[in-house]
Amino acid sequence: MQTEIKDERQGWTSASSAAMDKRCPGRFLAQKNLPEVKTDAAEHGRAIHEALKKQDATGLDFGQEEIYQACRTIEAKVVAQFFSIDQATAEASKPFREQRYWIHWKDDLQHSGQIDSAHKVKTRALIVEYKTLAGDVPGSPENAQLRDQVCLFDHNYAGLLTEIGTVVIQPLVTHSPKITIYKREHMAQVMKAMHERVAASNNPNSPRVPGEVQCKFCKAASAGVCKEYNQWAASSVMANTSLVDVPVSEWTPAQCVIFLDKMGVAQKWLDNCKEAMKARIKADPNAIPGWKLEDGDERQTIINAQSVFERFSEIGGSLAQFMDCIGIGKGDLKKSIAGITKARGKTLEKELEAVIGKDFTAKVCEPSLARKKE
Ligand code: SF4
Repeated sequence: MQTEIKDERQGWTSASSAAMDKRCPGRFLAQKNLPEVKTDAAEHGRAIHEALKKQDATGLDFGQEEIYQACRTIEAKVVAQFFSIDQATAEASKPFREQRYWIHWKDDLQHSGQIDSAHKVKTRALIVEYKTLAGDVPGSPENAQLRDQVCLFDHNYAGLLTEIGTVVIQPLVTHSPKITIYKREHMAQVMKAMHERVAASNNPNSPRVPGEVQCKFCKAASAGVCKEYNQWAASSVMANTSLVDVPVSEWTPAQCVIFLDKMGVAQKWLDNCKEAMKARIKADPNAIPGWKLEDGDERQTIINAQSVFERFSEIGGSLAQFMDCIGIGKGDLKKSIAGITKARGKTLEKELEAVIGKDFTAKVCEPSLARKKE
């Protein structure tokens, strides 16, 4: 489901889009006035960020709470390392959490960035960025969002900081993240690069440059309003005549690589187009000749096993027969064990293994296609 959410960036560029804006200078204006959307993945991240801001896990589901706790543990570790303090002092540290920092340039441009957590001791600071999913995120040296945050934080301290460290905390990838250091002498250069990029993003003549990274979450792509994206994505596979002119069974290994490299872009384009067709018919049932929206199937979930068992018994069913119908979700069982034992992390995994014992069957899923690691 998609709902509108408030724009805290007040219509200006933001650090969170820095990497994408750099790749496509036309991206910011192409998305202007298109509604912000809330997705399930974004909502998952928002809930954990909100809990980290309040330092209170109330309301998180079990999986979210595990990520929340891991973020706190890793943060205390990197804070202790960066400021050369003990773990207990690091855990008691009171950083600035989820604050948005702004810069207003003399040419009237503005730019901001929300920093998840910023620790400051005298003239040194450590900026922390939480990533709550497992997807690829550039480490802090190549991370354009963190570079912007360094500039914004430093600017808000009138350029008086001598050193700013940055770190991406992504528990589903690593518990030992690397800290990148920006010294005073780096600041002017990164600030200049940020201003140039923001100026390009606000220039109506800047080109739109399609590509996998920048188009993936661009609202202009999903709203179907970017010609450059349409041309690039639609032709990603089809324009390659070497693929179209021969049957798949005769593709050379090089042709297979072309297809696999482009398949994701083509699939995303097809999905975007399909959603656009559905939106049209939803707005006007006669918009597309010969097509309509069919009602979705209703799926029912049994929620009260005890009551169902009682009625099952009344018609002569035994407990053994009833248990044959029951499937236990490993995630739900883990959550329940965590609630009983209060165990977390590896201890919880061991508790789960001990409870399951040998009472499970394993099914190996079909292999999936994946890029080989270089
Ligand atoms: S869809 Fe792609 S090319 Fe078009 S504005 Fe967005 S990022 Fe740029």
